[in-house]
Amino acid sequence: MRYSQMLIPTVKEVPNDAEIISHQLMIRAGLMRKLASGTYTYLPAGWRVLLKVMNIVRSEMNKAGAQEILMPAVQPMELWQKTGRDVDYGPTMAKFKDRHERWNVLAPTAEEVVTYIVAGELNSYKQMPFNIYQISFKFRDEFRPRFGVLRSREFIMKDSYSFHANFECLDKTYKVMYETYKRIFARAGVPYVIVEAESGEMGGTGSHQFTVPCENGEDVIVYSEDSSYAANIEKAAVDPMPKATPDANTPAIEEVATPDIKTIEQLCEFFKCRASSFIKTLIYTVGVENPKVVAAVVGGNQDVNPEKLTQVFGGQHVELASDEIVAKATGAPVGFAGPVGLASKVDSIIIDHSITAMKVGVAGANKADCHLKNVVPGRDFALEGANVKIADIRNAVEGDTYNGKRLLFKRGIEVGQVFKLGTKYSAKIGANFLDENGQSQPAIMGCYGIGINRIMASAIETGNDKDGIIWPISIAPFEVIITPVSEEDEIKQAAEDIYKKLNELGVEVLLDDRDARGGVKFKDADLLGIPVRITIGKKTLAEGKVELKVRSESEVKKIDLGGAAEQVSKLVKEMKAKLDVEA
Ligand code: ATP
Ligand code: MG
Repeated sequence: MRYSQMLIPTVKEVPNDAEIISHQLMIRAGLMRKLASGTYTYLPAGWRVLLKVMNIVRSEMNKAGAQEILMPAVQPMELWQKTGRDVDYGPTMAKFKDRHERWNVLAPTAEEVVTYIVAGELNSYKQMPFNIYQISFKFRDEFRPRFGVLRSREFIMKDSYSFHANFECLDKTYKVMYETYKRIFARAGVPYVIVEAESGEMGGTGSHQFTVPCENGEDVIVYSEDSSYAANIEKAAVDPMPKATPDANTPAIEEVATPDIKTIEQLCEFFKCRASSFIKTLIYTVGVENPKVVAAVVGGNQDVNPEKLTQVFGGQHVELASDEIVAKATGAPVGFAGPVGLASKVDSIIIDHSITAMKVGVAGANKADCHLKNVVPGRDFALEGANVKIADIRNAVEGDTYNGKRLLFKRGIEVGQVFKLGTKYSAKIGANFLDENGQSQPAIMGCYGIGINRIMASAIETGNDKDGIIWPISIAPFEVIITPVSEEDEIKQAAEDIYKKLNELGVEVLLDDRDARGGVKFKDADLLGIPVRITIGKKTLAEGKVELKVRSESEVKKIDLGGAAEQVSKLVKEMKAKLDVEA
């Protein structure tokens, strides 16, 4: 391709909302432009990257025996009502009523649809296993779209779904997908770690997440100091802390006026103590019809983990209660709930293990503008009872251990996740088959997702320097850029010759034939992150040479003009082979 004919609008300035480097560089390098909050248009260079990511994904999925399909972007709401996920996805799901008054959903994922399709075709165990996938746009009305394409509203996902007659068969395919994902991320050139994950809205019995470790990731990975355990924060288990022996001399509870003090930070300031000295109580509703009101009690330095809380209630829908429900249940506005005297006011109280390790703390008084001092767990509120239970319901924090090993924390970007779904969808949607004994059974399913755009952004997050992007060669918009630095005929001619030869050799090459200064061309080449640059200048050309520079290295080499294309083509092949796991 010729640069002069391409739309690669590189810019110096970045918009204010581009907080992280990948977002900034995708704008600066002219890879994409924002249309509206969380929606982007991919320009030619950006789309080339996405196509390459998709091709890697496609080739590995095909190799694993999966078959590509395409499902509609608009799905009937009824299917979501059948599985109850219309409630679970809540406002994240974008919906509209069509002219026939029917509700439709803009596909945020496709478990319901694929199960419905398969339900219509499946009769016998003999038809399984099979694994079908699509690469298509998904829409999620994210509460806070940000970080460019890392959390956008519209994004490209590869989603696949496998169907099985028994769990052993699901386990086999799950392992194949797990290995396939390892190859996909290796070939795309992004570093990754695999962690145990919670299955979240998907439901099911097992899940792993593929995460690219980097500072700007929104996910938190928890791993043990000896690396024997790694999970994401939603899943990470913690050892229970040793139970505290209450101090018999602790004075009785004292009510303290705390007008307008609501946050833990304000409380720390007011009581002059650390967040860990507080007992935090959050009110949730559990279940959809006639929801129960439940109090979750954790330390002031801890966060309730809604996934763990969901587990405590056997997978029922759990949601933070509205201000009205909180006020009705506790008798106080949000911010003043506390465990003392609460058992008679709510349907149940779940107390985190760590509270039993506290000798004394400060808690909300269930009264506006009031807190209680000298609250002793076990003395001033029951730790066990008919509707009181102790469980692990919080996120791991600094200082926690698991299996006796210290837990460490790292940020990352979730690029893919695999799930063993079991029969959650097939049972509800009626994807049944006749087994070997002629009995009707719901199909056993697995599902496997990859965020295509997130791979692109993760590659930039983990590959950049002050000058721009450093792409892994497998997903770079071009493999080689030729920069003639001035307009003399012999320079132009040499550039054209190398360009022609590289094209013939099958190298993806961009010829910077713009009428621009060398400095401008170098800047854009670096910003775009093309892995190999050939520079043709007057002085070197007079010596019968051209310059060769690899984007990730600082060294500039002079190579002979004759045979330059062959040499560069060989280098490109070597660089690609390093990422190709088959090699
Ligand atoms: P997250 O927890 O980050 O919201 P998720 O667990 O809901 O993601 P999945 O339902 O597992 O996401 O979707 C499969 C893949 O799609 C994810 O692994 C991720 O790479 C990608 N993805 C999900 N949401 C977004 C988004 N808003 N923008 C870009 N990619 C996304
Ligand atoms: Mg996920």
